[in-house]
Amino acid sequence: MPGIIVVGSQWGDEGKGKVVDVFSAQADFVVRYQGGANAGHTLVVNGVKTVLHLVPSGILHPKTVCIIAAGVVLDIEEVTSEINALKEAGLIQNPEQLRISDSATVLLTYHRKIDQAREKALGHEKIGTTGRGIGPAYEDRAARQAILFGDLFDPATLKEKLTASLKEKNFLLESYYKTEPVAVEPLYKRLLQLADELAPYRCKDASTMIHRALKSGKKVLFEGAQGTMLDLLHGTYPYVTSSSTLSGSACVGSGIGPNSVQKIIGITKAYTTRVGSGPFPTELEGDLGERIRKEGAEFGATTGRPRRCGWLDLVAMKYAIRVNGITNLALMKLDVLSGHDKIEVCTAYRLDGQEIKDLPTSSAELSRIEPIYKSLAGWSEDITQVRSIQDLPQAARDYVQFIATELATPIDVVSVGPGREQTLWIKPLFN
Ligand code: GDP
Repeated sequence: MPGIIVVGSQWGDEGKGKVVDVFSAQADFVVRYQGGANAGHTLVVNGVKTVLHLVPSGILHPKTVCIIAAGVVLDIEEVTSEINALKEAGLIQNPEQLRISDSATVLLTYHRKIDQAREKALGHEKIGTTGRGIGPAYEDRAARQAILFGDLFDPATLKEKLTASLKEKNFLLESYYKTEPVAVEPLYKRLLQLADELAPYRCKDASTMIHRALKSGKKVLFEGAQGTMLDLLHGTYPYVTSSSTLSGSACVGSGIGPNSVQKIIGITKAYTTRVGSGPFPTELEGDLGERIRKEGAEFGATTGRPRRCGWLDLVAMKYAIRVNGITNLALMKLDVLSGHDKIEVCTAYRLDGQEIKDLPTSSAELSRIEPIYKSLAGWSEDITQVRSIQDLPQAARDYVQFIATELATPIDVVSVGPGREQTLWIKPLFN
């Protein structure tokens, strides 16, 4: 079945937004399956920048149907303003372009308040969350207390659930975090208003919709948010996000079986970045890190926070390939590395004097590892105008080849700039 999963293979911000936008031109459906408005995709189309947090990047293609599936936590205010901005820009002309699953978890003001109060209370130990309430909203889902998107269209159930939820949340906010509580009535009224606005996008059964699309041979792209190393179970815990970012989550979050998937594409930056706290083996702290940050414009799309930058880490990449079952790679932002005399690539780690080739899973070990680098020749040319892989400078081609060989995984696409046209295809997307 023609399903393709796009997954971040590093710490997020790999350029998934651009990839999904470019890939969407060939897809009938694009499904967002996990995460919330903590992910930010920056898209540049015809020189115009659009930042999306919840609406799938496929929305820029009018014939592509975008689905927000059950696994997503839906910041109801954020999604409404994104939709309004897209409507104003003429990018959503028909509500059928965007479907929101009745089973998605609704994220409300109190989730944000708890997230922010908790980070504040943690002080130096903070996780570095975006403060957008994603963790607390997923907690509600696991605690069987979540308000689902479908509940917004049933006023009596909504009132009942909201009242019950706020009883506990307000106790926490007032008595433990010493902040203002959230009143039921104004929030309830606001939700009814938003339900009216969002009703045209309602999809009662997104899982069946996706299943039927796949069965009838439609091309479906599953769009992941964040990256492998931020996975709740298999990332650098506790400095992780609150959902599963791995490819398997595409199936769970959208309600389809793994046998519907044909390809799993790992999106990889030509170097590495990380936002927030936690281990980052190849981090460059001096001028070199600053140079990559500046040239790669590495500042968070959601928070504006400067991203930590470093060389490409092939040990972490091998881990990502294994835990996601990545079959193909897209190499992004190669242009950012232009102008370096040499480029380092981490091919192994040293842990307590021993060379290791696998990513340690314990956080104590992770904090002690040192990267072992291989030096490759850099290139001086600006490659942003290059339109075919053969026209890249030899050293850039060698770098791409080195990565594919070391990872034993084909690179299908190389990106040399934020624009759609700055995409060099090596292999077609859908077979
Ligand atoms: P995402 O969350 O994985 O979509 O990543 P972000 O959108 O946060 O970060 C990617 C940023 O890099 C965006 O500003 C893109 O416009 C930009 N971008 C994507 N691909 C390329 C590329 O190949 N070269 C350059 N220079 N920028 C790129």
